[in-house]
Amino acid sequence: MRIALFADIHANLEALETVLADAKEQNCSDYVCLGDVVGYNANPAECLEKIREIGCPVVKGNHDEDCGGNHSLEAMNPVAAEALRWTRDQLTEEQRDWLRKLRMVRQVEDFTIVHSSLDQPQVWNYVTNKFDAMSSFSYQFTKICFHGHTHVPRVFSKDDKVVELPAEEIEFDEKLKYFINVGSVGQPRNGDWRACYAIYDVPANTLTYRRLEYDIETAQKKVRDAGLPEMLATRLAEGR
Ligand code: ZN
Repeated sequence: MRIALFADIHANLEALETVLADAKEQNCSDYVCLGDVVGYNANPAECLEKIREIGCPVVKGNHDEDCGGNHSLEAMNPVAAEALRWTRDQLTEEQRDWLRKLRMVRQVEDFTIVHSSLDQPQVWNYVTNKFDAMSSFSYQFTKICFHGHTHVPRVFSKDDKVVELPAEEIEFDEKLKYFINVGSVGQPRNGDWRACYAIYDVPANTLTYRRLEYDIETAQKKVRDAGLPEMLATRLAEGR
């Protein structure tokens, strides 16, 4: 079994299609989505329908919650709020209901999935260092937990202490636990603009990151044509 794990699609259809085609080529048999299907880019309905079509396990991201709900977006960063308001208008009530009903945490096979972190997943903590990872590990009862949210690929392992490992190929050590950010499909923020996802090869006991060039010009043009904030188009090329 080879499982494609992807997060933070953020309505970037060009990036999502590239990732799905690659996963197929890489002989992935299963798919898992770690949240934030929508928000920021110009194809929320198309991305949502693609994920539903696959029928894979999905957990809720903060943008999924904000686009599914009707609560005020006043307190939010104005660029994100503008994109969220636009996204709400693009989705049907039924699609928004699907977003609302997504679960926060799920177990899939022998691993756990969550969008942000396992300690208080509903407050959307950003895990950027080993201390944040430690808090999540205290609620992790499976060997591996996959997540997203920061849009930065990161790997933490734990035995008696927590260590950050390079986000490259991993061969899982039976004695350790892992908390792994698979990076972002549709809006990477690690300085590398390419669409990122990861493949968990269960029998081989390995994880591989995949980074793929995609048709960024089309994705950017759609953001501009939709009248979304210009910054959302430029940041795609910067990977920030
Ligand atoms: Zn996100």
